[in-house]
Amino acid sequence: MSSRKTEKPLSHQYELNDPLHQLFDAVKVISVQGYDDHRRVIYWNEGSEKLYGYSKQEATGQKLEDLIIPVSMREGVIQAHGNWLNQGVEIPAAEIIMRHKSGADVSVFSSHVMFVNQYGNKQMYCIDIDLTDVRKAEAQALFKEHMLETIFEAIPDLFFLMQTDGTIIDYHASKQENLYVSPQQFIGKNMRDILPEEVTSKFQTHIEKVIEQPELISFEYDLTMPQGILYFEARMAYLSEYKQVMVIVRNITEQYKSAELIRHQAYYDSLTLLPNRFLALDRLSQILIEAKRNNQKAVVIFIDLDDFKKVNDSLGHEIGDKLLVKAAQRLTQVVRKEDTVGRLGGDEFIVLLKGFADHNDVLAIAENLLKVFRNPFKLAGRELMLTLSLGIAIYPENGCSASDLLRNADTAMYQAKAQGRNTFSFFTSDMNQVMQRRFEIEEQMHSALERGEFEVYYQPKFSLQTNSVVGAEALLRWNNPSLGKVSPNEFIPIAEHTGLIITLGEFVINQALSFLKHWQSRDKEPYTMAINLSPRQFRDQSLVANLQKSLEQTKVSAEFLELEITEGVLMNGQSYIHESLAEISALGITLSQDDFGTGYSSLSYLRQYPFNVLKIDRSFIQGITINKSDCDLVKATIAMANSLKLIVVAEGVETEQQFTILKRLGCDLVQGFYFSKPLPSSQLLAFSPGQHLF
Ligand code: C2E
Ligand code: MG
Ligand code: MG
Repeated sequence: MSSRKTEKPLSHQYELNDPLHQLFDAVKVISVQGYDDHRRVIYWNEGSEKLYGYSKQEATGQKLEDLIIPVSMREGVIQAHGNWLNQGVEIPAAEIIMRHKSGADVSVFSSHVMFVNQYGNKQMYCIDIDLTDVRKAEAQALFKEHMLETIFEAIPDLFFLMQTDGTIIDYHASKQENLYVSPQQFIGKNMRDILPEEVTSKFQTHIEKVIEQPELISFEYDLTMPQGILYFEARMAYLSEYKQVMVIVRNITEQYKSAELIRHQAYYDSLTLLPNRFLALDRLSQILIEAKRNNQKAVVIFIDLDDFKKVNDSLGHEIGDKLLVKAAQRLTQVVRKEDTVGRLGGDEFIVLLKGFADHNDVLAIAENLLKVFRNPFKLAGRELMLTLSLGIAIYPENGCSASDLLRNADTAMYQAKAQGRNTFSFFTSDMNQVMQRRFEIEEQMHSALERGEFEVYYQPKFSLQTNSVVGAEALLRWNNPSLGKVSPNEFIPIAEHTGLIITLGEFVINQALSFLKHWQSRDKEPYTMAINLSPRQFRDQSLVANLQKSLEQTKVSAEFLELEITEGVLMNGQSYIHESLAEISALGITLSQDDFGTGYSSLSYLRQYPFNVLKIDRSFIQGITINKSDCDLVKATIAMANSLKLIVVAEGVETEQQFTILKRLGCDLVQGFYFSKPLPSSQLLAFSPGQHLF
């Protein structure tokens, strides 16, 4: 190169005047190059070195087109230069892509001037401004724009730009169906003219808020659209520099609906659609606040469906559920719109009445509630009867808090049950003591069996024909350290209610049968053992299997076992009672109707079911020496039993007089304090009836 330089001297000897070069030298950020009429470099400043990568030395003497012009442009450049030289056609300033020493593209804004130096030589000077950063920034901006567009498209939200007075300036909507009206109808318009009044005022309030405290704020609103009511969430930001408001609107209909569903599930019973316990109690609290303020009475009616479990057990849960729904509808019919009917769970309901002044009004409602259940429910081709037990507590007499009133209404409901169901009972303060006792018993009974507090006693039965002991009745005894001796009349109904009767019953059966085995083998006598069964035990599906198992384990033959059942078991007329009794009877177990003469005592039961024994209730036996009618009744019962080939047992025989009459009337067996009280097993083994008795 250097040799070529000397051979072929460059025209840079015809330099431009020095002061200009000095200026170009100082401008380091702009590239300035000078070319002679053969386009050879005669000037190359520091800016050019930086921009194109060639040092001044490397560049000097090289031809423009060989240095920094991309191949595709070379011809054009040479021609344009020639045209300028010869015909004075200026090369206009333009954005062009040049070539760096490394071969990379260099984007520049290039301006050109043609000078004639003091020697008359034409020299072209190029002034190139590097556009790389500008291009980069531009590309980045473009990319950002694309990215934002893509994001906008991907986001289902609506974007609105509006003035603070609510005029809509711009929008973006990827989902047009979320727009209340078409863009033509709202662009440039005030939302007041488009949206419903209440939505506009919500927007306006929030615009004022967001201007005051420029944080993102959000609110919800709904719009009635062709596709139904849609729920939206608007988030709003204030662009203070532009005095504009950016609103991002999201369709939250789906979330709203599922949240609504969850809300509903949290407050309403999914089966009956009535308020659930939570909501009902909340309403009760509200009612009490109101009643206090207005000096009014409020009423809580606790409702329990009578024997609903039997429906579930015998007809299945599906029918049970349907019955609950229908029962709920009937309850709702009775009360006023402003009153509440709620479901507390299971077969328990609650009715809340407010603004009552008079006891008689409450009475009327309670009677109506019972009345609407007098008609049978028609379900699955059957007619089902259902009755209610109601407990009523009144604010403020029976309590001031929701929980007190609820508890007292519940207590009163128990009273209604105890009174024979299908009735109502107003709470009284002495019910609390009854309830208190009930709770204590329930609590203590819970693990009394494990603690060995239960014992089976045996009351012997005598034959009036053979004058001898023929067997015994097993009677459960409970001795609790804190409650003392509790009568089965008290704890059996509670055990029935809690379900503990099932385990207790199994305990009695096992104890009584093992004792019987021992007793029989010791005395070599065919003693029988009578065991009481309560209704709940009958509903237990495993009753028959358990009986069989106990008989096998104790090696007692079924014929020695006698089961005493009361009318309560028979009265509901369910088919499974028939089946269980038939199965029990088929096993060879004796069936005995207990407490005959009390309750409804339908003779038809004796024919309908496979009974072998009839036990005349104590109350009649007590009467036989006092009034003739009792005596006649016992006489008639014995005659009737004989004709049905039933063995007659008189229970509760306490006196010699009663005994004598019964003997005369032809009663088969007797049982009572006159002979013996129920005894613990050891005492029964030691027992021998006094000769005076016979
Ligand atoms: P129940 O089956 O009618 O039993 C007869 C009740 O009369 C027993 O009361 C017995 O002690 C009592 N008694 C017997 N002779 C006389 C008498 O001469 N005079 C008087 N005043 N009473 C007499 P207890 O043992 O208190 O049982 C009451 C009821 O509790 C029983 O009536 C029975 O229904 C039930 N019960 C007792 N043990 C069981 C049991 O293990 N399971 C079930 N499910 N119920 C039972
Ligand atoms: Mg009995
Ligand atoms: Mg009895």
